[in-house]
Amino acid sequence: MDPVNKIAVLTSGGDAPGMNAAIRAVVRSAIYNKIEVKGVMRGYEGLITNDIIPMDSKSVSNIIQRGGTILKSARSKDFKTKEGREKAYNNLKKHGVDALIVIGGDGTFTGARIFGEEYNIPIIGIPGTIDNDLFGTDYTIGYDTALNTVTENVDKIRDTASAHSRLFFVEVMGRDAGFLALRGGIASGAEAILVPEIETDYKRLDNFLTNGFKKQKSSSIVLVAEGEKAGGAFNIAEKVSKDHPDYDVRVAILGHIQRGGSPSAFDRVSASRMGASAVEALLQKKKNVMVGLVHGEICYIPFEKALKDKKGLNKSLLDLMDILSI
Ligand code: ATP
Repeated sequence: MDPVNKIAVLTSGGDAPGMNAAIRAVVRSAIYNKIEVKGVMRGYEGLITNDIIPMDSKSVSNIIQRGGTILKSARSKDFKTKEGREKAYNNLKKHGVDALIVIGGDGTFTGARIFGEEYNIPIIGIPGTIDNDLFGTDYTIGYDTALNTVTENVDKIRDTASAHSRLFFVEVMGRDAGFLALRGGIASGAEAILVPEIETDYKRLDNFLTNGFKKQKSSSIVLVAEGEKAGGAFNIAEKVSKDHPDYDVRVAILGHIQRGGSPSAFDRVSASRMGASAVEALLQKKKNVMVGLVHGEICYIPFEKALKDKKGLNKSLLDLMDILSI
């Protein structure tokens, strides 16, 4: 592999708080190591349209605390085509870029794996998604902040639920993964969680609510991940209301507030470590790997493995949820 003199960085897919901290770390670590850096606007879309800008230490000043991403993000259909990726490669060559650092989720890494193999260009991935659904890292950038947002907001819902003795179904993000629902459920003292990984047992939920909410609780909160398979928060709430007209049932969808806001200290530190480690990986001539944090230590995992293997929900946390919600 040739020495890396000039790199480009982009953010792609769903935005997550802490992406800016990762961009800052990439840019400053690269400059520290005498590598030139370019920023690509709007993810892979900017590679195709040649929306590529120079970056220096100052261009990432005062962003570590900001949510969103200064490089913007996008979902690019064209990058899924051979023609689109050819344009992207030609633009990178035009700018003299030798390697790419991509910050995003599994879709972003799928694109990176294909592009890296097609054009033999070294690519390093940094996991940035509030869903925490990537194998090979205990935490993805944005997850901790989103978890705190879920917890703060469920606390607020609890106040009103308790005042009116209501049962709330609160939908949180997670199309394929229940990490936000599980940890958010434990952190907010929810009575139950419904997640895509576990088939919803309506009878069990019904018994649980009858014995808990009806008999002894002043309020109940069920966190429902948006990808839950039995129809989501609205459908389940409707069914429970129909079966129990005496329950005062409400639904709250937390929605996009979970993506926004200032990143937590944990996300800022993880993003800073991962950003610097992505540059370090290129200096070590690594390619087509994702940076991960496992047991608090930086590690590198091939895209292929990160994409193929599925991270499961922590069994001991699921058991804890059951124990604490009696
Ligand atoms: P999140 O987990 O937050 O949704 P993500 O990275 O998974 O983030 P996606 O929209 O799935 O978000 O993927 C981001 C981009 O990666 C896509 O818009 C597309 O440009 C590229 N991409 C995804 N899949 C492929 C593919 N099979 N081939 C080429 N590019 C792809």
